[in-house]
Amino acid sequence: MPEGKIIKALSGFYYVLDNEKVIQCRGRGVFRKNKITPLVGDYVVYQADNDREGYLMEIKERTNELVRPPIANVDQAILVFSAKEPDFSTSLLDRFLVIVESNNIEPIICISKLDLLTEEEKADLEKKARDYEIIGYQVVRTSAKTDAGMKDILPLLKGMTSVVAGQSGVGKSSMLNALNTNLQLKTSMISSHLGRGKHTTRHVELIEVADGLVADTPGFSALELDSLEADQLGDCFPEMVKRSSECKFRGCLHLNEPKCAVKAAVEGGEIPDYRYEHYLQFLQEIKDRKPRY
Ligand code: GDP
Ligand code: ZN
Repeated sequence: MPEGKIIKALSGFYYVLDNEKVIQCRGRGVFRKNKITPLVGDYVVYQADNDREGYLMEIKERTNELVRPPIANVDQAILVFSAKEPDFSTSLLDRFLVIVESNNIEPIICISKLDLLTEEEKADLEKKARDYEIIGYQVVRTSAKTDAGMKDILPLLKGMTSVVAGQSGVGKSSMLNALNTNLQLKTSMISSHLGRGKHTTRHVELIEVADGLVADTPGFSALELDSLEADQLGDCFPEMVKRSSECKFRGCLHLNEPKCAVKAAVEGGEIPDYRYEHYLQFLQEIKDRKPRY
């Protein structure tokens, strides 16, 4: 039986992308019995009635599942942070990184609106961008205004299901539009097929960009560290993960424990002070959280 991926769900229909075709499918009772609701992003097995309609038969196991927007199997999150308007914030970036990492999603940092910086400001920001590259994160530098960096993002999307995230006003929609116009042909094919834009209710939809799929709705609007425990926080800081095996105590929280390899790396300047400070802030936030009964 053929397989595909749900790229849109609307009025009881699931639109399954199978190579170049989009099949409009209904769910079979089997999902209701198992209490599984098919999600956009699900990999599915379907039965085709013809080359346009069919039935969902099976949902493949998910690698992850976001609540907002409701979407499954997200491979990566493009975290858009503007260089200016609003100002670049490492504190907010680190919070996004923790949440994305804890969801088992690969982050890509996108620094947008670079056209708004003077050369001097650019050099300052570049120091921070390098800190993140040293940690191992991919950093792309863009401007939707000059189109700079769009060609760097395109190859990263290939074969991936991506969400775009970041605070309001950083340029997420502008970036998606800039990516879209570079690939008008591909996206318009899907759009016209699905009658995109005709519906007033907003649903998340995966749009085809550069041989990849991108959610048309930004993700991670809630940034509470609700689902994390104190001992899991360090796992969301790759530069700490790398060193924590050398901490004297297993389960070291890198606070005041003796012979802590993470603290030593902070003191030695190998881990930026601000990253460690944000770690401490988030840890406190998790500890202050009211217990759930
Ligand atoms: P969103 O809320 O993250 O989707 O942000 P928008 O894409 O709506 O952009 C917010 C504002 O920033 C708009 O006024 C855009 O014109 C502007 N903007 C977006 N990208 C850029 C950019 O690269 N350079 C400049 N100068 N302005 C930008
Ligand atoms: Zn430690």
